[in-house]
Amino acid sequence: MSIADPAAARKAGVTATAFARGVWGTTLPFPSPLAYSFGYLVAVDRGVIAVDLGWNSDESWEAFQLGLERAGAGLDSLLGVLVTHVHPDHYGLADRVQKHTDAWIAMHPGELPHVVRDEATIRARVEDMTVWLTRCGVPVHVLDEIHSEEAELTSGFASVSPDILLGDGDKVPGTGGTLVALHTPGHTPGHLCFHDTERNLVFTGDHVLPRVTPNVSRRPGYGDDPLSDYSRSLERLRVASDALVLPGHEWAFDALEPRLQFLQEHQDERAREVEAVVVSGATTVWEVTQALKWARPFEQLASRGRRQAIGETHAHLYRLRNERRLAVDGEICERWSRAADGLSRRETA
Ligand SMILES: [Zn+2]
Repeated sequence: MSIADPAAARKAGVTATAFARGVWGTTLPFPSPLAYSFGYLVAVDRGVIAVDLGWNSDESWEAFQLGLERAGAGLDSLLGVLVTHVHPDHYGLADRVQKHTDAWIAMHPGELPHVVRDEATIRARVEDMTVWLTRCGVPVHVLDEIHSEEAELTSGFASVSPDILLGDGDKVPGTGGTLVALHTPGHTPGHLCFHDTERNLVFTGDHVLPRVTPNVSRRPGYGDDPLSDYSRSLERLRVASDALVLPGHEWAFDALEPRLQFLQEHQDERAREVEAVVVSGATTVWEVTQALKWARPFEQLASRGRRQAIGETHAHLYRLRNERRLAVDGEICERWSRAADGLSRRETA
């Protein structure tokens, strides 16, 4: 077992904060502009339950153990781990936890196809990605770049089998029924938030963050219309609208209602931009993506950022298609245009 070195973790700027009685959050470092994800610890009758585990690195593992120490606990008191979603900055330490503790791991069944298990799964995923990017009209040289990074990133994923599957409204075992899973698909198909009804807290993973707008992408395995899923999931969170929000990154905040409203308005505004770009003549997903405004000019985005931008654009296009504002055609490569009755429909609405 690797021994935690709290001194090293402190030197690396790790903080462990008490957010409520019996609830701590530790900053687990990971290589991204976001700098860290939160690993939360919730005290229950017979030990502690973690909400999310950070990036798979020694540094992050040490930080997680520092958090346990701060909570007056240790690896032997960890009863279980709740995974909001299986992105590597939220469950990267899962196989270390499985190796070194008896804790159960729980997630939504919608995440199962995205838990990497073997080489064949990784190869199949990269192939699906190629077919998808080709449908989006991405040029071959860009496709190769995105490809190689995806393969590299995927190979670093933890490969774990969950012990418990949780659906919407399920009560987390060992909590006396006070911690409830909320299914909030959009950022990923099986994304979960957790509502602590006793302490009036809600753990939101990447579904709702205080400043960053979560990426909602249409990509292989993410469903037909993830943006409409995301809108419904914003509504789902209203059950906790006066709770303290403990997100997966950035900082805790208590104004959930205006944040939910902002995120929905942001998505609606973005949809109008995408529609206008298609109406002005862009036809492939790739062309539409390049014509939109991004945090940085599109050419300057790293290949992961480009893939996310393409996925986000594609998600908006499908939302607009399902609202009958745009139409799609094309076998190998999708061609987008204004829906024949789109404009008149809205003018008379
Ligand atoms: Zn994240």
